[in-house]
Amino acid sequence: MNKSRKTGFDCPPHLLQVLAWILEFATIFVFYFFIVPIQSLLNQILMSVLFGIFQLAFIYHAFLLTKSDPTDSTLRQKPRIIRSTDAYLTYCSLCVSEVSNDSKHCMKCNRCVSKFDHHCNFVNNCIGKCNYWIFIKVIILLEMMEVIFLVCCSYVIYIWNFDSNHIKDVINGIYGDNSEFGLIIACWILGVLSLIILLANGYLISLHVWLITHKITTYELICKKRLKKTGFDSSVNIDSDETKIIPSALTGSSKRNIHASS
Ligand SMILES: [Zn+2]
Ligand SMILES: [Zn+2]
Repeated sequence: MNKSRKTGFDCPPHLLQVLAWILEFATIFVFYFFIVPIQSLLNQILMSVLFGIFQLAFIYHAFLLTKSDPTDSTLRQKPRIIRSTDAYLTYCSLCVSEVSNDSKHCMKCNRCVSKFDHHCNFVNNCIGKCNYWIFIKVIILLEMMEVIFLVCCSYVIYIWNFDSNHIKDVINGIYGDNSEFGLIIACWILGVLSLIILLANGYLISLHVWLITHKITTYELICKKRLKKTGFDSSVNIDSDETKIIPSALTGSSKRNIHASS
């Protein structure tokens, strides 16, 4: 059996997780080493403090989300104390254990997660009961940061078109001749990426506002849509043909496989 993932820091890291952290540090680098120096002293202080607060809050919550372990609490018990008559337990044949009724098995992490919402590749971890609100904080902080960064990039590109000498003087004075082109190229590339992230993340936030108000998870929404489309109840198994109801010889109650992949 494959090893179970506990947190998003377990190896191997996901490619999107690595790219997200590279983009995060590239954004911080360009902001503090290129965008801030060309501002007036008052703007330098205000921008540094505002962006710094959001960055620290974002990194802290992204770290917490990655480090969290949303594994079903029954699986975390050592030793597991299972009472076969417990009404709130069902059976996962992949974990080879009883788990909570609201748990789903994540195929990427190979473990059951309480109130499974989805598996997030950007933190390489499942989002479930224990870390859902940290996830919400992370996407809200990300949206705020992208707004600030996009405004700053747009401002630099705007200034470049009207007063490029100011930018040349400041940047060349710090980093040498022609280094201002690095700033403009970085602002264009990271600005476009920020706009894409801003729009995609904005959609994600509105989706989760809708999910919270309707009291359902992302996984349940996907299952409902599939049920509507195909008539197949994927709440039992979202992507494989392993779904089966297994009469329990031990308890007399029915047991089922509960697999979710994404
Ligand atoms: Zn499981
Ligand atoms: Zn997972």
